[in-house]
Amino acid sequence: MVRLETNDEEKAVILKTLEQFNLACNYAAPKGVYTSKYELQKAVYRELREKFGLGAQMVIRVISKVVEVYKRDKTAKPEFRSRGAIQYDRRNLSWKGLDRVSISTIKGRMTLKTRIGEYQKQHLCGKVVRGQVDLIYRNGLFHLAVVVDAPEETLYEAKNVLGVDLGIENLATDSTGEHFSGSKVDEVRKRYTSLRARLQARGTKSAKRHLKKLSGRERRFKRNVNHIISKALVGKAKRTESLIALEDLKGIRERVRVGHNQRERHNKWAFRQLRNFIEYKAKMAGVPLQVVDPRNTSRTCPRCGTINGRNRPERNRFRCVRCSFSEEADYVAALNIAKRAAFNQPIVAPSLNKVYEVAAISLPLGGRS
Ligand SMILES: [Zn+2]
Repeated sequence: MVRLETNDEEKAVILKTLEQFNLACNYAAPKGVYTSKYELQKAVYRELREKFGLGAQMVIRVISKVVEVYKRDKTAKPEFRSRGAIQYDRRNLSWKGLDRVSISTIKGRMTLKTRIGEYQKQHLCGKVVRGQVDLIYRNGLFHLAVVVDAPEETLYEAKNVLGVDLGIENLATDSTGEHFSGSKVDEVRKRYTSLRARLQARGTKSAKRHLKKLSGRERRFKRNVNHIISKALVGKAKRTESLIALEDLKGIRERVRVGHNQRERHNKWAFRQLRNFIEYKAKMAGVPLQVVDPRNTSRTCPRCGTINGRNRPERNRFRCVRCSFSEEADYVAALNIAKRAAFNQPIVAPSLNKVYEVAAISLPLGGRS
């Protein structure tokens, strides 16, 4: 996200541009269900140019925004927020170095200063900025959501395995027993949950509006949490020259039961995002990653290998029916994931024993608590 600096005059022009853009979307959408940009363009291009004061390329972007919605869902009756995002491309947005950017508006081209941080400079500098850039208006400020192609580092040869169990309650637990969801995160999550429940109970129009806002804020919060967790995990793997082991997604679908309510959908979305973040950050950092068979990772005893449903007397507790090994359930799952990856990894064969030892021997005899 790159913030744009604007004076009052520029702000007014850009807001007007957003409004005209979305008015045009709302005008074009009911003209019929089109899943081809070409067809919709034939039907409304001229009208949009005349009615909304938008340039040729902006009209093309309007058409593609509407068509994208229909491509996702033909039964959708799209309604575009009056200040919803505009998608720019190379033809209506260009960078002047990193500090300034030129964009099309209803008053023609406008060059704006960007407020770019050191972190962003590092990530943008010298990298190919991919086609689409979204202009977003939020809390009185304009932002550009920029997509970059980042180079990947060469994978190192792993000497250890870091197993990671992903879940809805404990977002991530690794095979050293570390949890990656702080108390702060839980606190905020709880606050959102109770606020949402109260608003839903009220059910008024303003409550619904508030809910919608809340869901955006919550999504951004979760995204941020996912960035922090994935960064910490990948950093830890790199420092310890480990490969990251995750469960194959297919099995996770079985374990994480998802219903149809808003909260569950939200959780599922956040859960998948965390996984994606781990994968791409690992790639960028050169950390090898492996997926393992997820079957019984939560029911297998990492000490004696016994598989039994009764090994889980409680949701968060593991206790082996045969050898009484007892630990927290998520930690046990992460250990099992790490062990599976170690067995599957012929490249790290010399260190396989070591990994296996780490997993098997360092297991405490009783619970850690
Ligand atoms: Zn056992």
